[in-house]
Amino acid sequence: MQRLAILGSTGSIGRQTLDVVRAFPDRFEATTLTAASNWELLVRQAAEFRPDSVVIARRELYGRVAEALEGLDVKVYAGEEAIEQVVRGEAVDTVVNALVGYAGLAPTLSAVEAGRKLALANKESLVVAGELVMRRAMERGAPIIPVDSEHSAIFQSLVGERSPIEKLILTASGGPFLRASAEDMARATIDDALRHPRWSMGARITVDSATMLNKGFEVIEARWLFGVEARRIEVVVHPQSIVHSLVEFADSALKAQLGTPDMHLPIQYALTFPDRLPIAGEKFSFVDHPSLTFERPDLERFPLLEVAYDVLARGGNAACILNAAGETAVEAFLAGRISFPRITEVITEVLARATFIPNPTVDDYRQSNSEAKNIAGQLSGFTSAF
Ligand code: NDP
Ligand code: MG
Repeated sequence: MQRLAILGSTGSIGRQTLDVVRAFPDRFEATTLTAASNWELLVRQAAEFRPDSVVIARRELYGRVAEALEGLDVKVYAGEEAIEQVVRGEAVDTVVNALVGYAGLAPTLSAVEAGRKLALANKESLVVAGELVMRRAMERGAPIIPVDSEHSAIFQSLVGERSPIEKLILTASGGPFLRASAEDMARATIDDALRHPRWSMGARITVDSATMLNKGFEVIEARWLFGVEARRIEVVVHPQSIVHSLVEFADSALKAQLGTPDMHLPIQYALTFPDRLPIAGEKFSFVDHPSLTFERPDLERFPLLEVAYDVLARGGNAACILNAAGETAVEAFLAGRISFPRITEVITEVLARATFIPNPTVDDYRQSNSEAKNIAGQLSGFTSAF
């Protein structure tokens, strides 16, 4: 029995993780669930899965959760710090970090410091502080298994290999604006940006896919996860999202993982590695998908992809600034405060203005995150609710 702490159980990845638990009740047990504000779903999940504990990050909602779970044997905690604590608990073998944004970093560090196995969906942990997270995980012997589909594909392709990686090729669907003109993108509404052609995901990552900042984040994520320099990481647009990413070796061999786009597989694999379990549903058929196409990304319409490489070259807290600026700019866009192209402008301006720190500590990251969010907030006339 593998005991799971599912951070962000009410989100897109969190809910699909619970599907996996539901499918294999004799293998997985959800012992901790957490949410930010969706307390009603958290309560329903707790009633179904009977975890030892739940955390509601928004403190003001503590009373409602505690009242609703009265009589069930479930401990209720509140606040973001409580998430850091529950991952260290005795009743946890694996931490599934499905939080969104900077908020995922502290629980990631807490999980690796406690030596827990970490199934990592929260790519922002590695974007903000990848070097630090990987170093601490190495020191504590804490395995990190990627959940992000591209990184899971690479991870799966590396099983059994000992030779160095020549190149990583990350595939990108191209998002909803792959074929849109710059003028169309300038007029894009919130609904347009949220209409992803291949994946149904949380709001932030969906908008990040529309700007392709998400793919930039994935380059940074891959750099730290697999210890591969940026010049060996390439992005290729593959609109069908069947080839989930590839690894190239010195002998020119390419290995990839393919299949219908469905996050249940990478989530489940992160929990069962090195084993595999069945997943219900239709199997992929090549004859039904006779055309798999590949093209270069258009860096003029998607400049944030290149910004991610610049940020890696700068090092220090640059990627932390990029993430924070992106978080606030996307929130401002989703609140109707700024236009779609303004997201890119705000991010670029914050990167130029925020304080650069060459060798940041955890505390520096915290301050840098707030500073960059403040600047992005001023530039977009927006203050975050959180
Ligand atoms: P969602 O927005 O759907 O879910 C986020 C979860 O985190 C929710 O449970 C939310 O609670 C909780 N949460 C949000 N903010 C905070 C906070 N400040 N403190 C504590 N909890 C918080 O996101 P996704 O599931 O789409 O994404 C999760 C992560 O996985 C992201 O890093 C994303 O990039 C990555 N990912 C997602 C994929 C997908 O298919 N969705 C694919 C690949 C990667 P509440 O519901 O109460 O607001
Ligand atoms: Mg991905």
